[in-house]
This record gives sequence, C-alpha cells and structure tokens, in this order.
Amino acid sequence: MASLPGSSLSVDTFDRLKPLENLVRFIPTGSKKDGKKPLIREWPKHPGFTVQELQKQFPQAMSVGVVTQPLLCFDFDGETATQHAVLNDRDPDYVNTWRINRTTDPHRYKLLFLPSKEQLAQLPNGQITHSFNTRPASSVRHPYEKGAVVSKGEAEEIFCHPGRQVIVAGAHPSSGGHYFWPVGFGPEALSAPPEEWWEHVLELSRDYPRPAAGANKTVSASSFASRDWQRIEHCPICGRGPNDNPLCQLHRDGETLRCFLGQTFSPPTNLEPGELVPGTDWAFSRVSSSGWGEFLTFVKDNPNRYQQIKAMLRGYANGN
Ligand SMILES: [Zn+2]
Repeated sequence: MASLPGSSLSVDTFDRLKPLENLVRFIPTGSKKDGKKPLIREWPKHPGFTVQELQKQFPQAMSVGVVTQPLLCFDFDGETATQHAVLNDRDPDYVNTWRINRTTDPHRYKLLFLPSKEQLAQLPNGQITHSFNTRPASSVRHPYEKGAVVSKGEAEEIFCHPGRQVIVAGAHPSSGGHYFWPVGFGPEALSAPPEEWWEHVLELSRDYPRPAAGANKTVSASSFASRDWQRIEHCPICGRGPNDNPLCQLHRDGETLRCFLGQTFSPPTNLEPGELVPGTDWAFSRVSSSGWGEFLTFVKDNPNRYQQIKAMLRGYANGN
C-alpha cells in the first residue's frame, strides 16, 4: 500500500475513512515527539477534520483518531477483558462492526459502534464512560531472574463521550506496531450496537450514571442515584451500616437485594442458589458484577408464596 510522503498512513486508509468524515469526528494524532496524543489542543470542541484536511494540514501525523461521540467504543485491554464480555453474552468475535486491532498485541483491540439517535437519547447527556477491571496490574518475580516483571492491568472500557478519543489507524509507537482492521471489519462495517451490547450499556448507565470508581474506593452517597436501586443504610446480609461506605442496594420491588463482596463486609459465599442466609429470609440467587466489583444477588424468600399466588388468582377471578 502506498504511504503518503512522510506519513505512516496509507492512501488506501484515508480512502476508506472518507465516507465517514461527515458522520464522525476525525482528528490528527501521534507525532515523532508525542506518541499517541492529538495534535490539536482543542480537539474535544473541534467538529472534526475531513480526510483531505488531515492529509494537507497534518502531514506529520502518525495516526488518525476519532472522537468517541457519537461513536460508542468497547475497548478490550487483555485476554481477561474478552473473557469477561463473552461471559456476559457479548462475544466480540461474533459482532459485525468496525474493529481496530493492532499488530503487536492480539488481546488489545477496540470495537466501534454508531448508536442510533434513539439509542443515544437513552443515555444521560448522551454519554457514558465506564471501566471494569478484569485483572489488576501486578509485578511478578521469577525465581531465577533478577527484578520483577510488571504486567499491565486488564480491563474492559466502554465509552461514548465527547472528551475521549481513540486511534483508528496508523502507528502505535510504544510497541513499534500499527493498528489494522481485520478483513471484513473495516470502517465500512460500522453498525449500531446489537441488542445485548446496548442493553449492557443501558444497564451500566442506569446503575452508575457517573464514572465508575473502583470497588475498593469510597464512593460518595450522591453518586449512587438510580431509579430502580436504592442504597440501603443497614444491610441485613453483610451488616454494613451507614458509616461503612454502604454499597448494598435494594430493588424498588423490595424483594431483590444486591450485597457487595468487600474486604471487611461480605455476604456468605458458601450458599447454594435458593439457600437462605442464616437468620434472614433472604435466599441466595446468583453472582453478578458491575463497575464496582462483584456482588451477590439475594431474593426475598416468602413462606406465604402459596397464599400470595392464591390471592393473585382470586384477584384475576374478580377481574382486578
Ligand atoms: Zn450487604
């Protein structure tokens, strides 16, 4: 492929980006001095450059970035990030949209979607930015070597936000590699997020309308607003009180409770589904995870379930 003089970007790359230039906001990124950074300061406010403008005005750019709004990005950083998504019924290998891989690490890649106007309207301010750590950074010391090997943390990041951008083509200087689009997954494939993917985004935005904090951090009460879930001051399962950074939540149906697995406070983890937490009428249902970390979901065990159903049937019979 022919590269432009002094650029690591090919003519073919620009030709394939061109049909999107009025739909998304391209910006010049990456220079010899500054690995990946945007080449203009005011990029979050910039309406975006056409392909011709990028070529003429920024011949030194080593890559092209795109502002992630109206685009929605799923950024997979590491093998555990992909595993996390697959377990969540979102297999990245079975979704058809624009995919940005890089030559130097097959486990770090991005999927870009273009949400519909109706979808964007479902997000608070049309935005979301969320990060879920799937593996903490660690330093491993090998027994026969001096020094420690630091391995980067892994995470799935999801964002649709005017203050963020991702590189879609060109060089990845820190690894010496470059970005590429797998065959069939170029910009031509850009699509709206499929249902399972969008449902996941909506769920994150409903429960955690602000940038997620780590599960181990203290979270202020006000950042926990949600229509369906209310934070509970005294958790009947783990015993967290109002001064213990209460994270556990009760659904507005009053019958479903999420109890967070923490260092100091934690629900019992040895229960079979359906088994009651000793001394309570809460039955263990399942393990789930969110931007805060893992939590167990419990449902109210109702000894009068039979009578409830009878009453409900009576209601139907009476036309209520
Ligand atoms: Zn709890």
